Amino acid sequence: MINHKNNDSLLKALSPFLENCKSVGFVPTMGALHKGHLSLVEQACNENDCVVVSIFVNPTQFNKAQDLEKYPRTLNSDLDLLKTIKGNIFVFSPKASELYKDDISSNKYNFSGIENEMEGKYRKGHFDGVGTVLNLLFRIVKPNKAYLGEKDFQQLQIVRKLVEIENLPVTIIGCPIIREESGLAMSSRNKRLSKDLLKEATLIFKTLKEVQQNFDFLNFSQLNKLVENTFNENQFLELEYFEIANSKTLKTESSKSPNKSYRAFIAVFVDGVRLIDNIALN
Ligand code: AMP
Repeated sequence: MINHKNNDSLLKALSPFLENCKSVGFVPTMGALHKGHLSLVEQACNENDCVVVSIFVNPTQFNKAQDLEKYPRTLNSDLDLLKTIKGNIFVFSPKASELYKDDISSNKYNFSGIENEMEGKYRKGHFDGVGTVLNLLFRIVKPNKAYLGEKDFQQLQIVRKLVEIENLPVTIIGCPIIREESGLAMSSRNKRLSKDLLKEATLIFKTLKEVQQNFDFLNFSQLNKLVENTFNENQFLELEYFEIANSKTLKTESSKSPNKSYRAFIAVFVDGVRLIDNIALN
């Protein structure tokens, strides 16, 4: 496995900023920033004297070329948004060729099986790409703490495993999901949807709330059916998966155990745009 690349020039670019830092917070992003990202940056600024925000649309975590191509890129307005936050922030936006050199490919990781569930099942190789880019970024930025959103809960658990596997001296901080007033989880991909479709997409969180409210009264199979029926009745939204999983292992279980913690996870296509969300159930 190739874990190290010669990233000397990127290290050099960052070193004047990092020189006098007591504590470095890191927020890795793919840009097209919104209030969800900004909440991570704010928390990082509150807890560290220096913060690095990376903006890098990582090619190795996309399993569909079209999805990568259509991913929104809004660097100038991202920089404007970051200027609204009080803090000592360095924006790091390397080119793929600078980060990956001449080999834009992923390491193969074993994340104890978490990589085979849900997002891993539907986006083959996705988490190898996430692991590879974060391993590279962590080794360049050398943060004390890294801030990741629970919006991508499975990714958060994967990154916790990654730092164990790669033995990286960084603490991973999970941050709450920031939502629109409508309940829709903020996402860069929402930028690709019309006003009407954004309204339709609110059904995603409404359904998760319904599952949460019924969690004590219905069994898993009844809850799954409830979600399936809800999406079957909507002509604009296409359910890719809905799963209730153990919050630790992210594996589905056939029935509830009283002392375990569960979360519901969902992926839905809205006019070809893939949105994900999740909610704690107990
Ligand atoms: P992305 O740019 O989509 O790769 O996201 C960068 C980071 O922001 C990840 O850790 C995401 O989980 C987090 N994030 C994205 N959307 C939200 C949100 N609505 N609330 C909280 N964190 C988020």
